[in-house]
Parts: sequence; structure tokens; C-alpha cells
Amino acid sequence: DTAVVLFTRDLRVHDNPALHEACRTAAKVVPLFVLDPSAPSSPNRQRFLLESLADLRESLRGKGGDLVVREGDPVEETLKVASEVDADGIALAADASPYAHRRERRLVEGAGRRSVKLFPGATVVPAGDVRTGGGGHYKVFTPYWRAWQAAPHRDVVAAPRKVVLPAGIDPGRLPEPAAGSGFAAGGETAGRKRVKAWLGSVGDYDDIHNDLPGDGTSRLSPYLHFGCVSPLDLATAASTRDGAEPFVRQLCWRDFYAQVLAAFPDLRTKAYRPGADDTWKKDRNALEAWESGHTGVPIVDAGMRQLVDEGWMHNRARLVTASYLTKHLGVDWRSGAAVFMHHLLDADVANNYGNWQWVAGTGNDTRPYRRFNPIRQGLRFDPDGDYVRRYVPELADVPGKAVHTPWDLDEATRRALKYPEPLTLD
Ligand code: FAD
Repeated sequence: DTAVVLFTRDLRVHDNPALHEACRTAAKVVPLFVLDPSAPSSPNRQRFLLESLADLRESLRGKGGDLVVREGDPVEETLKVASEVDADGIALAADASPYAHRRERRLVEGAGRRSVKLFPGATVVPAGDVRTGGGGHYKVFTPYWRAWQAAPHRDVVAAPRKVVLPAGIDPGRLPEPAAGSGFAAGGETAGRKRVKAWLGSVGDYDDIHNDLPGDGTSRLSPYLHFGCVSPLDLATAASTRDGAEPFVRQLCWRDFYAQVLAAFPDLRTKAYRPGADDTWKKDRNALEAWESGHTGVPIVDAGMRQLVDEGWMHNRARLVTASYLTKHLGVDWRSGAAVFMHHLLDADVANNYGNWQWVAGTGNDTRPYRRFNPIRQGLRFDPDGDYVRRYVPELADVPGKAVHTPWDLDEATRRALKYPEPLTLD
């Protein structure tokens, strides 16, 4: 019989339960990806996606198969391919977002006699598998972390050895990726290489992950987002290393927000916490200055410029920039989160909106009035100012930590910088 494996955010052959099971049980398999021209993307993310698909295609060709590529509405195209090859079933990875749930529902409705099977793989522990005593989802991280550690994990599955396509199927064309910023080549091959290198230093994570100029985090988030790297495979491999627990805990945060989103599909638009103060300004000018990195607050501008240039931002800078927008400028967290969604390679509804709600104090946070002082954060996590100078060339000649407070420079130096006054520091 024949199975269609619809790839979504699981662009890998290793530890891909949907692909593994289809290759184990069906004589012929169509590994399929549908490019959706209506899906929002940025040039950086599009590049990463196309590189990941090219890499996946190469891996599948190496196993005798191919990646079949179609363009259009993912559900309609999948159903068309399934009918073209007269498939018995469609397999895909389950996902927590409302978009994914709609896709799953529509596939089931349109598949008729064909089966539609959902597989794990998007998270370490599937959203909904770990529940509170009352049967609900977890709202607070620490108890979730404890339950998550104690939960049984499925086994990591091997890459299929052979993929047999139905005869005569047109593999379809994959557009060439445009040249990007060069940061993080997309794909499973690059992702696995990064994992291997990263595991060598995972024990240092706790000491260095907040060091802004040092880039001491794994930078695996785009690979995890597109599923080039299996989160379970990564968590399992990391757990065998000394001192890896603080890193594994971060992977648990990712699962945590997936189960929050699964239980609260409005995470993108509504305050998660009932009764949360959710009144904000719509200030276009402030939002634009923030997005383009011209707020006049060096650490904020450095973070935002890193985001726009590289499609990635250090977590500490994400916290500081998001806090500045919401708590200093009073601008709606939804507008800031949408800017992040547009630029981030790892843009992810669960993680992005979950974290934005945490910063804004509308989420599961127990300290809703927390706000980060950007100057203190800069001095603490970028003590010599190297991170700011790397991304804000107007300040490249300001030495040491003085770069965090350019308004304290003497008048003539200050004016020569062509760097704006802070929008606000209050
Ligand atoms: P590492 O520190 O090496 O962590 C390893 C992995 O753990 C990450 O790749 C990520 O998958 C997960 N992780 C780490 N921190 C978090 C966290 N706070 N919440 C959830 N998962 C986490 N992460 C995204 O993947 N997509 C987003 O859209 C996103 N938006 C964010 C928005 C804001 C306002 C904030 C404060 C954080 C956001 N994060 C998001 C979380 C975090 O900043 C990134 O996952 C991290 O910076 C990615 O870098 P890394 O891979 O080097 O992380």
C-alpha cells in the first residue's frame, strides 16, 4: 500500500516518527512538502526554509526516494497527491497551534476513506501528555518541569534506510534560496552539525547563557522551529552530558508553551490570565523607532538591529527589547510580538506569544509588574559594551561601558555621534 507523509515543521529524516512509521508499514511512500504562498514569511525565514527543504530532498534521494514539492493550499494539495497515488493514508506530525489543528481537521474531513494519522515529534513530550492532578494544562513552569522530567519519553526512532516512491510521480520544483545574511544555514545536516559541536560545551551553559556579546547559547532555535533537529533526540543526547540540566530546562520551556497554546488557542490575541491589565497604546512612531533600532537606548537598539539583520536575537536582548516596548513605551505587546514574528527565523506562535505575554505581565507570570531597566541590564550582561558596538555602528567609537549611556558624554562628542536621544528612560 501507499502512504503520503506530509512534512510541516519536522524537516528531518532522523527521529521523524511519521516518516519512520510510513516507511515501516507502507510499500510506497510519498514524502511531501507544500509551499504555501499565503503563509507569512520574511526573506531570512524563506531562505532557511528552502535550504532545509533542499537538504531534506537530498537526504531522501540518498535513500532512493525524493521530496515531492507542491505549491498552494497545503490541505488541498495533499489531498490531490493522495488521490493521484491512490494512497491508503496520510501521516503527519501533530502540532499545537490553532493553524495546525485546522489543517488536521480539514485533512480528516477531505480524506474520505483514507486514514489521517498524527505522530509525535514536535516537542519532547507531546502537548497534553503531562497534565495536572485536575486533568488540565500547567500554568506555572516549575511544577510542569518536575512533571515533565518524570514523564515517560517515547524512544528516538532511526532514519528510514530506504524510501520507495510510487512510479511516475513528478517530484516538483524547489525554488532556489535567495542569498541571506549567512547566519545559520538551514537544514538537518547543518542542524546536526551544530548539535554535535554544541554538546561539547553544553555543561558551560549555565555560566554563559546570559553573556550578550559571548553568544554562549546553542543557537539551535531555528533548527528546532523547523524540526531540522528533533527536540527529543537533542534532550536525550544532552541529558547524558555533565551539567546539561539548565539547557534541558530550556527545552522544557519550549514544551511548556506548546501545552499552554494547545489549551489556550487565543494566546496570540488575548491576555492569557483572566483579569490581567491589558490596556496599551497604539503608537506607530514609537513602534517604528523600536523596530528599526532607533529608540536612543543602546542595548534596545542593538537587540532590534541584530533581529532585523540576522533573523535572530539573544534571549536576554529579547527580554530587554520586549520589556522596553511594553513597560517603558506602553505599546501593545501584540504589535511587538508581530514584529518579532516577521523577523525571527525561529518565530513560533507558542514561544513568541508565550514569552511576550510573560514580559507584558498578561501571561502565566506571577509578577506582572516586573520591568527590566535597560541601562542596568546593559551594564550587567554587556559590561564592556561589545554587543552594542557590534550592532550599532554610530556608537562604534564610544569606548567601554560608556556606550550604554551616550547621553552622559560631553556635548560635542554626543552631537558628533548622530545617535538619537532616548525616547524615554522613565
Ligand atoms: P538556548 O538558550 O540555547 O535554548 C535552547 C532551546 O530551548 C531554544 O532553542 C528554544 O527552543 C528553547 N528555549 C530557550 N528559552 C526559551 C524560552 N524562554 N521559551 C521557550 N523556549 C525556549 N523562542 C523561539 O523559539 N521562538 C520565538 O518566537 C521566541 N520568541 C521569544 C520572544 C520573547 C519576547 C522572548 C523573551 C523569548 C522568545 N523566545 C522564542 C525564547 C528564546 O529567546 C529563544 O528560544 C532563544 O533565544 C533561542 O536561542 P538559542 O537556541 O540559542 O537558545
